Amino acid sequence: MYDIVVIGSGPAGLSAAITAKMRNKSVAVVSNNRTDSGLYKAAKVDNYPGFPAVSGAELLNKFSMHAAGIGAEMIRGRVTSVLPMGNQFGVSYGAEMVSAKALVIATGVVQSSVFPGEEALLGSGVSYCATCDGMLYRGKKVCVVSLTPEAEEEAAFLESIGCEVVRLTTKKIVINGEHKVTSVTADGEEIPCEGVFILRPSIAPAMLVPGLLMADGHIQVDPKMRTNIPGVFAAGDCTGAPYQVAKAVGEGLVAVLSAVEYLAGSK
Ligand SMILES: Cc1cc2nc3c(=O)[nH]c(=O)nc-3n(C[C@H](O)[C@H](O)[C@H](O)COP(=O)(O)OP(=O)(O)OC[C@H]3O[C@@H](n4cnc5c(N)ncnc54)[C@H](O)[C@@H]3O)c2cc1C
Repeated sequence: MYDIVVIGSGPAGLSAAITAKMRNKSVAVVSNNRTDSGLYKAAKVDNYPGFPAVSGAELLNKFSMHAAGIGAEMIRGRVTSVLPMGNQFGVSYGAEMVSAKALVIATGVVQSSVFPGEEALLGSGVSYCATCDGMLYRGKKVCVVSLTPEAEEEAAFLESIGCEVVRLTTKKIVINGEHKVTSVTADGEEIPCEGVFILRPSIAPAMLVPGLLMADGHIQVDPKMRTNIPGVFAAGDCTGAPYQVAKAVGEGLVAVLSAVEYLAGSK
């Protein structure tokens, strides 16, 4: 078990990981590929102190090398759920899980909105992870909503275990069913099915962490980057504007200092 798990390896998450190591805490960063950070696409960043005209990719590489170089564990994976387990948290990615005493959410801005029916039927036919939940649907018909290139791999996995897979790429989706999924409506066409796998590069934080309070689409935090859930902190674009590297880096630091305080108090 780690002291702290950080979700997301953008500037906020990497700053959090560096501060955690500086405070002598064990830390793992679980994240999608580094190239998924918006910063990776920035040709030139002119406003980060000390690095005039640096490319976003170069800045991110430097942050990442710094964090890994001082011992932060870097785990590649898309986090699909966080389970509170007493005074620790289980963080699931693919079929794997890591646990920690404190959590920092640094997932950046999540562009995708939730489909009608998704929230109500999550865990009752709606899943974000084929390798985790696929076996429940063996021999059954499922829809795979592919909004990420890696989705094809997950769809192929579901076929390999005997699911009948309908691939959908549209964003006009409605998930139907009262207590469990019975069908999906895609662009107005209703497709009967027993499960739907929604594969996005990121998942809205409130769907990741049950009970997490949001405000205007962002995670609600206090000035110490504490969320409404004890032991859960947030930093970077996911907490709101301005969407800037310097703000993300500063918040990553504050979030971990608060996490360290929390860990000291929870001993
Ligand atoms: C084209 C462009 C140009 C920009 N130019 C500038 C600039 O010049 N100056 C400036 O200050 N800012 C700039 N920005 C903004 C800056 O990139 C962001 O403010 C900054 O990257 C936010 O950092 P973050 O760590 O909060 O989130 P991000 O950098 O978005 O990192 C979040 C990471 O978490 C990962 N993630 C999300 N959900 C999950 C999950 N469920 N499981 C695992 N991983 C997950 C994401 O894939 C991503 O890698 C620019 C942004 C863009 C898109």
